Amino acid sequence: MTYQPKYGFETLSIHAGAAPDPSTGSRALPIHQTTAYVFEDADHAAALFNLQTVGFIYSRLTNPTTAALEARLAALEGGRGAIVAASGHAAQVLALFPLMEPGCEVVCATKLYGGSIQQMKNTYPKFGWKAVFVDADDPENFRRAVTPKTRAFFIESLANPGGVITDIAAIAKIADAAGVPLVVDNTLATPYLCRPIEWGATLVLHSTTKFLCGTGTSMGGAIIDSGKFDWSKSGKFPSLGGAEPAYHGLNFYETFGDMAYTFHGHAVGLRDLGPSQAPFNAWVTMLGMETLALRMERHCANAQKVAEFLEKHLAVAWVNYAGLPSNKYNALAKKYLPLGAGSVFTFGLKGGYAAGVKIVDGVELFSHLANIGDAKSLIIHPASTTHRQLSDEQRVAAGAGPDVVRLSIGIESVEDIVADLDQALRALA
Ligand SMILES: *Cc1c(COP(=O)(O)O)cnc(C)c1O
Repeated sequence: MTYQPKYGFETLSIHAGAAPDPSTGSRALPIHQTTAYVFEDADHAAALFNLQTVGFIYSRLTNPTTAALEARLAALEGGRGAIVAASGHAAQVLALFPLMEPGCEVVCATKLYGGSIQQMKNTYPKFGWKAVFVDADDPENFRRAVTPKTRAFFIESLANPGGVITDIAAIAKIADAAGVPLVVDNTLATPYLCRPIEWGATLVLHSTTKFLCGTGTSMGGAIIDSGKFDWSKSGKFPSLGGAEPAYHGLNFYETFGDMAYTFHGHAVGLRDLGPSQAPFNAWVTMLGMETLALRMERHCANAQKVAEFLEKHLAVAWVNYAGLPSNKYNALAKKYLPLGAGSVFTFGLKGGYAAGVKIVDGVELFSHLANIGDAKSLIIHPASTTHRQLSDEQRVAAGAGPDVVRLSIGIESVEDIVADLDQALRALA
């Protein structure tokens, strides 16, 4: 089953991309643990290599199990096609690869996952790419940062680690006016809570490692293309809208239309950069996604209760959860995430850095680790861990100052989650 908009979200989460296997009748998705695929004959092989027919050649480019995950993600996000990658970070490089050339710029929000800031700031320059950071709380900052070299805007819908919500539609309008695609990392929201393409995003990114997999077991990343961007109009995207030398001069946009980006991502991106997702990881992620809606509902309900508990606690200075009426992002949360404000958020301890280091040792049910989006509740003190490599100024800009603790609320009994935090907070006094 491919994209079937006539079905509801929960139905698509279970069925999209995973019809019974036609050769065996297997109801579960087979794990196609194969490197290559036998050609029917020499003509078939030539047609595949020329992209004149769609099929499987070599699993670095495409694989039936990862293709099933791509179809499901495209269906859930309302996109035209998708490319899955070995990790969220691999997907980010793969996403920008057809858009950028040496000397080009991407305008990024300051409030992003710490690892993304790291990648953009220190590794992009090695490709000759430049990331320009702006405060996304004022969407006009994106307009001000545009230059003739700008090739994309990059934001997170619900930004990691703070409970920050980005005004996707406002920034999409500015991207449109600038003639560049808006790339939205939707990892923390998942398509259950927010579908950025409906608000004007061109490309949606995921670290499927998090809520989509949902069990903290399998790395993965994804890019979903809306299929709505005209890659030939401005002349700024020669890899897609011109003769692509990496594919014997093929013009992807002329040849494949709204599938140009998806085809390029496999035929050039994965072929030449190589960060393909393992079929087994795609299979585990597909299994996880069957319960995405149920899990997200519980994740959000638990997070809301924990945020309300923390807001009243004497050891807590502030809570940044967009589901709280007092939160400055509450109005944006109601607009973009009406089913819940996610389950990852931060709070500040009155005891500062020292208390932050102490609380992660004081919890018992929570796991102290650098991940989010697991069924289990997770805690981390970003300033001493994930955001350690950043400068003090970058840390504060990213919402990871010295007193900040990040939680990823799981789907355990909420009384147990609250009780664990309560005993750890009491121990600080
Ligand atoms: C985890 C994460 C990433 C990176 O994904 P990996 O799968 O760890 O490579 C990117 N963006 C966000 C918002 C994340 O939470």
